[in-house]
Amino acid sequence: MKDILRNIPPVHELQKHHLFILLGKKYNLDETVLTSIIRQVLDAVRNTVKSGQHINKDLNSFIWDEIEEIAKAKNKPSLLPVINATGTILHTNLGRSRLSREAIDRVVEVAENYSNLEFDIISGKRGSRHDIVEDLIKEVTGAEAAMVVNNNAAAVFFILNAFGKGKEVIVSRGQLVEIGGSFRISSIMEESGAKLVEVGTTNKTHLKDYEEALTDGTSMVLKVHTSNFKIVGFTQDVSTQQLVDLKKFQDNLIVYEDLGSGVLFDFTEAGIGEEPVVQKVLETGVDIVSFSGDKLLGGPQAGIIAGKKQYIDQLKKHQLARVLRVDKMSFAALEGTLQAYANNKAKDIPAVRDMLLTIEEVRERATVFLYSVTSLMMFQWELVEDESMVGGGTMPEVKIPSIAIRVQADTLSSQNLADELRKGTPSVVVRLQDQHVILDFRTITQGEIPKLVEAFRKIELTYRD
Ligand SMILES: *Cc1c(COP(=O)(O)O)cnc(C)c1O
Repeated sequence: MKDILRNIPPVHELQKHHLFILLGKKYNLDETVLTSIIRQVLDAVRNTVKSGQHINKDLNSFIWDEIEEIAKAKNKPSLLPVINATGTILHTNLGRSRLSREAIDRVVEVAENYSNLEFDIISGKRGSRHDIVEDLIKEVTGAEAAMVVNNNAAAVFFILNAFGKGKEVIVSRGQLVEIGGSFRISSIMEESGAKLVEVGTTNKTHLKDYEEALTDGTSMVLKVHTSNFKIVGFTQDVSTQQLVDLKKFQDNLIVYEDLGSGVLFDFTEAGIGEEPVVQKVLETGVDIVSFSGDKLLGGPQAGIIAGKKQYIDQLKKHQLARVLRVDKMSFAALEGTLQAYANNKAKDIPAVRDMLLTIEEVRERATVFLYSVTSLMMFQWELVEDESMVGGGTMPEVKIPSIAIRVQADTLSSQNLADELRKGTPSVVVRLQDQHVILDFRTITQGEIPKLVEAFRKIELTYRD
């Protein structure tokens, strides 16, 4: 053991080795970082030797292998691209929507350069970041005014706090939803300081329930779009229009609708779901609406608030506006996304495009994949009809007909195959259904197909025989 310990090279000797420079270049690490990795490895090797464990390899190559392993991991990002083969278009765990080319280009441009984020180019004076996308939002929704905060949950909190704190806010029991990740509308309301006044029952709320709940202390009626579940059967709820009509009973009553995933493209025209476009909702005369930037809108994470100017102006001046303010890269992405709607090019937005892909278009993608994997002998492939989900808590009842490939591997269970695919580079996330791995091609682009083929090829190389 003493001999082996004596043979461990000192740090300065390793620093002179040609691999020291090579690894530094390869993994973009400077001398100090690489030296501390060397120390870490040498300590570990000494401990290994002292504990009596045997090192099978030549000591030097063992040490350099260990150094390289750590160097490689050093700069590997933890936020990585993933191939979404689940068919769920707005997968919240997988980052919801992909951005459009236009949105991505704008982000890069704004990230690379200084920008007029809070600078008025015409007057040369200080500007407001609220102005960046306000006109565009007004154009695509027909709202009098608009602003943007961090996400829609923040918008809900903000609006309740600004207009409902210490006052009564009426909401139907049927709309006290949990948004996901255990975030509940009722808890957000509580945090905002608004006094929750629940009316109706889980399945039925009538207009008179609201009327009877109105008091001098009522500031707002909140309607929450129950986007992530659907109660069917014996149900009754009150339309936005009817809630707006309550304003005649009380001056200054604010009617606010949290739309969840507000849509700017009319999916009902394509026969998908029943989501009303934001413009239609605003036409009822509702005072304020809010919706997500990264659900069916297909943009970056953001919470869009639109409605009557008198209220939006108050929100812009509120202290919380600063707390919830949006970053320039999100503004850039949001502007690029909204512009597509303004130009009638919603189909340039990946989330919208993937919702509308015909079953033939999905079949074509799956077929291209099948042609590319014929040489892989370890798997059996079967083209099957399938159904894609929208996801993101949106349109839970909607199933979009799709085409998938059902895969089986000779020497791997479906669970093991799914694990291998997920742990590969890039990571491929699949759906397991009836003991089979399912690849739904609605959420896999042409550009991802070669990478997907490669993922299977690597598994075959590892597990063949
Ligand atoms: C998704 C959702 C939210 C939260 O929106 P985020 O943008 O994810 O913060 C709020 N309300 C409803 C009804 C939702 O569906």
